[in-house]
Amino acid sequence: MRKKIIAANWKMNMTQGESDSFLETFLLEIGDEKRVDIVLVPPFTALARVSDGLSKVQNIKLGAQNMHWEKSGAFTGEISAEMLRELFVRFVVLGHSERRSLFGETDEIVNKKTKAALEASLKPIVCIGETLAERDGGQVEQVLERQLRGSLAGLSPQQLDDTVIAYEPVWAIGTGRTASPAQAQEAHAFIRGILAAMSDNATAEKIRIQYGGSVKPANTAELLGQADIDGALVGGASLDPRGFTEIIKQACTLLG
Ligand code: PEP
Repeated sequence: MRKKIIAANWKMNMTQGESDSFLETFLLEIGDEKRVDIVLVPPFTALARVSDGLSKVQNIKLGAQNMHWEKSGAFTGEISAEMLRELFVRFVVLGHSERRSLFGETDEIVNKKTKAALEASLKPIVCIGETLAERDGGQVEQVLERQLRGSLAGLSPQQLDDTVIAYEPVWAIGTGRTASPAQAQEAHAFIRGILAAMSDNATAEKIRIQYGGSVKPANTAELLGQADIDGALVGGASLDPRGFTEIIKQACTLLG
């Protein structure tokens, strides 16, 4: 059984003060829920503050939104895996569609970051997904396979097992338009098939594949009820501590 993983991608939102307010409510609401893995992914400037806020709880992990693949050096504006580790960061989101489309990140770059993250014992959450034009053009499988093979090239089965995949159709991110459970399941099953081809069936069965794209409390259960959907990467709806708690509770209802 794959443990579901629900992550809050705050993007470029939340000052330190706003993070404090979020945590104050969220920690009360969520209690010691640990039936699913919970990850908060603040902007870099709030990482230390959220890390402090989480220091007394065991059930909520910290993630970062990006990192550079080099260990240190002349890379103005960048952050290394070691810098994240120092703040007790455990996960790092890589290749988000906003990074790919707005900041020119290619599969090759995502691959370098993924390897560097794993070498530093950070768990990468590698994002893939097609645009609307690619879906309308019947290219979903081609795009997903290219992104998977490119972003995860050279990873061992153990490293693949330590990696989370986030399937995020670009047309569903921040648009209020969600993939139907059937559309999402079809993509997730295809992704698992490619992961099996890249490693073996046993490894592919262990890898968690999150869905992302306008996830909210009302659509969580039907999406996460699909056989190959192992969690959610939540953007907009994760900024509200009560709404995010409700998403987690919805995911837990599936566990009985
Ligand atoms: C995301 O940021 O990864 C995302 C899926 O955003 P939203 O939930 O707002 O669509």
